[in-house]
Amino acid sequence: MPSRLPDFVDPRRMADLEKVFSGCAAIVDLPRLAEVVLDADGGVELRLVFNREGGKRISITGFVRANLILECQRCLSPMAASVESQLNIALVNSAEEAERLPEHYDPLLLDEPRIRLLDIVEDELLLSLPQVPRHKEGECCSAVSQKAVQPAADFKGSDNRPNPFAVLSELKQR
Ligand SMILES: [Zn+2]
Repeated sequence: MPSRLPDFVDPRRMADLEKVFSGCAAIVDLPRLAEVVLDADGGVELRLVFNREGGKRISITGFVRANLILECQRCLSPMAASVESQLNIALVNSAEEAERLPEHYDPLLLDEPRIRLLDIVEDELLLSLPQVPRHKEGECCSAVSQKAVQPAADFKGSDNRPNPFAVLSELKQR
């Protein structure tokens, strides 16, 4: 059994120790994520590796991974989504420092001496969620789903209608 994650850590110390946290977090312990999933029973797999790059910059690498149940925005029924994100975070002390970071880093502003590990995990997962979760085309299934699909289909149809001004000009020509 992996040991429980500490809540808050001092990132400088963790980096000096080249500390690695790996294990699981419960979705119920990630309230912002729990709010957007339909089933908060599961867990999130994580690995956070603290390091000092070039003896200076503190970085957090690793990954977060979860199988989530989201609400399909087309049929409003549950859909499974595998979400995974590779971390490449650099701790910065100011916005200016964040701007100077090489592009492959995601800056994390360190405004307190300690950081909350679950916040990092939760932020990363929220950023990795599909913006508009939807079943693949044709995979929306329930009867409710068919109704929900209808307006979208109609809307699409209306896009293909001839431009009303074109019709008007036709009338004028008669
Ligand atoms: Zn659907």
